Amino acid sequence: MWNDTELLICYHCSNRVPHKRVGYQRGQELFEHIDGQRHNEDFDYYLYQCPTCQGISIYGDFSGYSRHESMEQTRIYPRGSQLLPERHKVASTKCVPERIQRIYEEIWPLRHIAPNAFAGQIRRALEFICHDQKAHGRTLFEQLKDLSSRGVFPGYFSEITELMRLIGNLGAHAAEQEVDFWDAELLDDFFRAVVEYVYIAPSRIERLKERIDVRKQSGT
Ligand SMILES: [Zn+2]
Repeated sequence: MWNDTELLICYHCSNRVPHKRVGYQRGQELFEHIDGQRHNEDFDYYLYQCPTCQGISIYGDFSGYSRHESMEQTRIYPRGSQLLPERHKVASTKCVPERIQRIYEEIWPLRHIAPNAFAGQIRRALEFICHDQKAHGRTLFEQLKDLSSRGVFPGYFSEITELMRLIGNLGAHAAEQEVDFWDAELLDDFFRAVVEYVYIAPSRIERLKERIDVRKQSGT
């Protein structure tokens, strides 16, 4: 049960301000599937409004069986800085390096209000991924190309070389080049796609294998 007023980051205007609860509804969601039986449980939806931009954010959780440690983890809309899918869909919530998750959470609110700064930080996060994936090359652009040619990044990324060149140059020449919020959104999508491909997809596959193994064992 959340309070009438909660200090939250608004992912519409990026301000951290006390939000007021403006709505509450209880519904039901599938909670468990045991021995062929589906079990639904009560699920609470909370609407909070930002006093700065009047934007609405929606949070939700099972009434009696919370699977979350903080309110932030229950955010349904807008998705904002959440990189990971729901935790039962991956083998480990640690599949994305903590540092990447932390940087992204910090910078996501900047993407519309300070696109230049956002681009610079996305560049930093990509540098970290390149280092983590042992990319070869002197510049970020070369490293991204190297990962793409080795298949660490998906093939279609190599066709958007121009975007990678742009990313490689951003931040390095931030003063000369204005990044607007459309660029920031493209960078955001690119970055999320990279994280999905490099870190999250392998963990999803691992999770799927785990589930298949459980089936096999219970079937024999
Ligand atoms: Zn707001």
